[in-house]
Amino acid sequence: MNGFEIIKKVAEESREELVACRRDFHKHAETGWYEMRTSSIIARKLTDMGYEVLTGEDVCDRDARMGVPSEEELEKGYQRAIEQGADPEFVQRTRGGMTGVIGILRCGEGPTVAYRFDIDALGVFESAEEDHRPTAEGFASVNYGSMHACGHDGHATIGLGVAKALMAVKDQLHGTVKLIFQPAEEGVRGAKSIVEKGHLDGVDYFIGSHLTRKPEGDPADFAPGSYGSLATTKYDVIFHGLAAHAGGAPEKGKNAMLAAATAVLNLYAIPRHNDGATRINVGRLIAGSGRNVICDEAKLEIEVRGATTKLNDYVSEYAERILKSAAAMHDCTVEMHLMGASESQTSDEDFCMQIHKVCTEKLGLVPVAAPLIRKNGGSEDIAYMMNRVQEQGGKASFMRLMTTMSAPGHNRRYDFDEAVLKQGVKAFAGMALYLLSK
Ligand SMILES: [Zn+2]
Repeated sequence: MNGFEIIKKVAEESREELVACRRDFHKHAETGWYEMRTSSIIARKLTDMGYEVLTGEDVCDRDARMGVPSEEELEKGYQRAIEQGADPEFVQRTRGGMTGVIGILRCGEGPTVAYRFDIDALGVFESAEEDHRPTAEGFASVNYGSMHACGHDGHATIGLGVAKALMAVKDQLHGTVKLIFQPAEEGVRGAKSIVEKGHLDGVDYFIGSHLTRKPEGDPADFAPGSYGSLATTKYDVIFHGLAAHAGGAPEKGKNAMLAAATAVLNLYAIPRHNDGATRINVGRLIAGSGRNVICDEAKLEIEVRGATTKLNDYVSEYAERILKSAAAMHDCTVEMHLMGASESQTSDEDFCMQIHKVCTEKLGLVPVAAPLIRKNGGSEDIAYMMNRVQEQGGKASFMRLMTTMSAPGHNRRYDFDEAVLKQGVKAFAGMALYLLSK
């Protein structure tokens, strides 16, 4: 049997195992930097399959992680992971939010192929309604307030399926495969720390993917690439003022709320840019302690975006000037904390065409109707990985795996058709076989 046939067979035969794995991750959803149970299970499975496995400090650069929760909260997450059946050996390496796993398969001389599978859940309260399948079938999240509402439970599962399929064709591979299980994609917080650790250096071919909604009855399995995700930067902004009696001595206060409000209005007044799209959003404003007190602290959660990294920098620098000026107007001070960031990305067109050819001709997958290379909405920190690979002359693509969904991503009733899992396994494993069997 040729390698592609073996991969197809393994993927088809793994169907139930893939579904069980996805449902286990779904039930024990962990948000960014809390993926301790998830990481420990991935590390255990990869180790048992015979992969060289990197965990803990070896995956993410500790200081390049963004938007990391407090030590105290992470410790609660660690205890929860243990209670929920984390692998006792590997979970220790994740303590303090050092999540993420890399599985490496070395098959002698040849190119390096790297894949990214993100593994984190979202801060969403999953629907408890009986017509929501995860609830009806008993795999809804037991971690209330954390939910796989973006399909990363599927991504992580596909990664493990790929690991198994590649082991079955190992003797036909010439080169190295790296399977990167990335933490904290939501909020674009994790990818950069993996890039900073050097894991994308020397990679010749790189692919990531995201489950993407298709209409009911559409036969498409995949889009070979995408372009145009927005560069972005996320900040927590804190204005510090001075509290005073609002009736007795208002002139002695420094009003942090006023500084914050001035900032909010002016952030939305940043001029558009002739070179392309920009965005700004203030998603949250928390200020003050009581009716008769001059507010001494105000917090904003903001994000900026741009069609290119340069456009994002334009909005980001403008925003910083406004925040500082608004603070100065009211004699307050301001701190900006970086909570997440990503660049823009574009898949290599010639590489996308290779993916298209292999997936259709060798694996029998159905491509989307034109355009084959889809425009991304939103932002994705896979861009850091793609850009690092492309800067060094490698090829990269951010694919789409098409599936029907019960609700849009980030919705509390989100669920997807699990048939996509085996199709994703075929696409990734098949591409590695194609790239490494020459
Ligand atoms: Zn996602």
